[in-house]
Amino acid sequence: MAVYPGSFDPLTYGHIDIVERALEIFDKVILAIAHETSDASKRSLFTVEERIEMAKEVFEHLPNVIVDSFKGLLVNYVGETNARVILRGLRATSDFEYEFHMASMNRSLNIHLDTMFMMTSKDYFFVSSRSIKEVAALGGAVEGLVPNLIARRLKEKFKLPLTKEKQIGWEY
Ligand code: ADP
Repeated sequence: MAVYPGSFDPLTYGHIDIVERALEIFDKVILAIAHETSDASKRSLFTVEERIEMAKEVFEHLPNVIVDSFKGLLVNYVGETNARVILRGLRATSDFEYEFHMASMNRSLNIHLDTMFMMTSKDYFFVSSRSIKEVAALGGAVEGLVPNLIARRLKEKFKLPLTKEKQIGWEY
């Protein structure tokens, strides 16, 4: 069992790809969605309830994916599960420094936990929740980078007409 923590604001195909590949290694993956922080600059677009609801819908067909949320220290949350592995994805060298610090800090907080990294797939190395939000806010098409249900929710958030683009793979 592994815990895959993150903001998932929103979930992208980059995240989904990591989860699907992790299921080849671990019997269960807990997608652990972080609650909003009090830091206004890190405010999420979607509330934790919305992110949970969307993730549950996306992973409905995968019973070995458990969608949960956590507040506070990640190591405390992971310690309460049977998992001993924290899973994270890496896209670019720029991810490395932050992830290295966090993994080292988490290990110093709980020596029994280890962080495992999976490389992004070539199709999603440029996909981040932040860039998805930026593109969607400006009315760009994000279908193909996030599931259709999430593309639709982004359009609703940014009050864009749902019928404006008829992209390939766009479903109603
Ligand atoms: P956080 O705010 O904790 O970084 P994110 O939701 O942005 O949460 O990301 C969660 C994890 O997924 C991180 O380890 C991040 O590096 C990884 N990740 C995000 N996008 C991708 C992607 N396109 N391919 C692989 N890993 C990704």
